[in-house]
Amino acid sequence: MADKKDYYEVLGVSKTADEAELKKAYRTLAKQCHPDTHPGDADAEAKFKEISEAYAVLSDPEKRRQYDQFGHSAFDGTGGPGFDFNGMDFADIFGDIFGDFFGGGRRSQARGNAPMKGANIRTSVRISFEEAVFGCEKELELTLKDTCNTCHGNGAKPGTTPDTCTKCGGKGQVVFTSQSFFGTVRNVQTCPDCGGSGKVIKEKCPDCRGTGYISSRKKISVSIPAGIDDGQCVRIRDKGEPGINGGPRGDLLVEVVVSRHPFLQRQDTNLFSTVPISYAVAVLGGEVIIDTIDGRVAYDVKPGTQTDTRVRLKGKGVPTLRNKDVRGDHYVTLVIQTPEKISREAKDLLKKFDELTGDTLNAAARASAESADVKKKRIRK
Ligand SMILES: [Zn+2]
Ligand SMILES: [Zn+2]
Repeated sequence: MADKKDYYEVLGVSKTADEAELKKAYRTLAKQCHPDTHPGDADAEAKFKEISEAYAVLSDPEKRRQYDQFGHSAFDGTGGPGFDFNGMDFADIFGDIFGDFFGGGRRSQARGNAPMKGANIRTSVRISFEEAVFGCEKELELTLKDTCNTCHGNGAKPGTTPDTCTKCGGKGQVVFTSQSFFGTVRNVQTCPDCGGSGKVIKEKCPDCRGTGYISSRKKISVSIPAGIDDGQCVRIRDKGEPGINGGPRGDLLVEVVVSRHPFLQRQDTNLFSTVPISYAVAVLGGEVIIDTIDGRVAYDVKPGTQTDTRVRLKGKGVPTLRNKDVRGDHYVTLVIQTPEKISREAKDLLKKFDELTGDTLNAAARASAESADVKKKRIRK
């Protein structure tokens, strides 16, 4: 993966390219190297795959954000958030852009005898806010298919072997031509007799009823990295569907669903909360206790603090996925609480306080109103 080219370079666009620019770049490049116009040209096909992958990521705002943040490592499945390129239907993306320009261009499902990687399986797991911040181990229980031991996956009764399909000659696909208004159309379809496998089973394996697979409930443990966010995926290699014709297993993609926190909000690696302070603490300064994801911390409020002042608790945020020792910050908004019911004594003291400070407050208010007035007049002139 180290020699993988930058997706923006692949499409020849800048990092700030918008949706329309991406689409235009992809359309131009795809026309130059589409496999249908270069049959049998491996370079063109590789190039087409490369630009399609780049476009698939950059045209999806969430994937683009992850790519911008983590680069290709966002998608290589080594503990980071994973994405499923194998299961991604490029024909869909392509169809979206070109419509019927190339007559569909959807890849046939024919398998023949070639080894193929098994399909990926998707599932999800709910974790707490804290588990997302600090990482966790989760055990999932799901139904997984395994190759049938009785028939070794070929689906035929022991002692018999599957026959080569006569309809397609083992290729798994059939070609037929038809006449249309536009001329002769060549169609390739999955063989209806063998369903694309190229083989026909006369006597089915009794254990798997000819499917070649046995399903069973399995427990799988998932390491969820610290810093993962709601909606991101963890890829577990080789826990998907079994491969076909000796191909490798697909992967298991676990989407993480993160529960809300009672008082902390998260944005990327930063956390946010609101902490009430009394008027006296706002005026005189003093210590308040703030609940953070690491526990309680004491914070010294400065004298003369205004309401809605935001303070930063450095490094008390969420770890980055790349390095759990690098953490975001926790921003706390200090809000002055106005008491609704106070004692007679407190009322008297507050009146006294107002008498002592009212003039200076009014003077300050007047001064700021006047200066605003002066500014307005200046603007009018
Ligand atoms: Zn079997
Ligand atoms: Zn067939």
